[in-house]
Amino acid sequence: MKANYGTYIPISTIDWHGKVAIVLFLRGCPFRCPYCQNYDILTGSDLVEVKLLQDKIESSIPFINCLVISGGEPLIQKNVVKELAKFAKKKGLLVGIHTNGFFPQVIEELLKDSLVDGFFIDVKAPMDDPEIYGKVIGLREYNLSLEPKEVIENVTKSLDIVSKSNAHIEVRTTVMPGLVGSKEDIAAISQFLSPYIKDKNIPYVIQQGLPENAMSEKLREMKPFSREELLKMAKAAYPFLSNVWIRTKEKGNERVNFELV
Ligand code: SF4
Repeated sequence: MKANYGTYIPISTIDWHGKVAIVLFLRGCPFRCPYCQNYDILTGSDLVEVKLLQDKIESSIPFINCLVISGGEPLIQKNVVKELAKFAKKKGLLVGIHTNGFFPQVIEELLKDSLVDGFFIDVKAPMDDPEIYGKVIGLREYNLSLEPKEVIENVTKSLDIVSKSNAHIEVRTTVMPGLVGSKEDIAAISQFLSPYIKDKNIPYVIQQGLPENAMSEKLREMKPFSREELLKMAKAAYPFLSNVWIRTKEKGNERVNFELV
């Protein structure tokens, strides 16, 4: 079997908080988020035998306890993900998937086959506002033919499926000036997430988007939101969620102590 391969990180401590992972990035994604940092692997073809990727996993095994499959959007390559996950499980590794939530039926299959232990799901914008969601995933800017309402429905299904499973979940929003990140945006996202994640104390992470690495040249001149601004966004999440984190270039992952913000 061939994989459409992007790149990989042999040892990472930041892709699954508290774990040490090899991260395989698969090529291809149905979205074009203007802030995307992995834009060189959204399209194109670099077909390699899955065995080559399994060899990479094997080489990292002495140093890692999990495999994270990222992208692009890895679930586009369902059979490759299954093959890699089966291999990793046989080697005693946990398996995590970074996903934009667009393929709930694939998530369901992976869970049914007990192939994945953790999902890291993007909720990119307020779910009650298809206009903003479409803008954040680049529908108009990059002339995509997706329907934002369908995207939102799929992400909602993905959250529903994963939140009812025993898999670890992290939900993430990347914030970027000019796109998404007002206090109102974060409050709306958090309110939407509350019934899915609050009772299970599932982490919600507000990630600092980095304009200098963005796909859209228009964004590259902008200043990123500061850590203080992310803390204010976190505060807007507080009425709805209690396990809120911010992720910044300067300080990495920080769980927000609401008594101090
Ligand atoms: S940031 Fe957007 S465009 Fe980039 S890989 Fe993720 S979902 Fe795809």
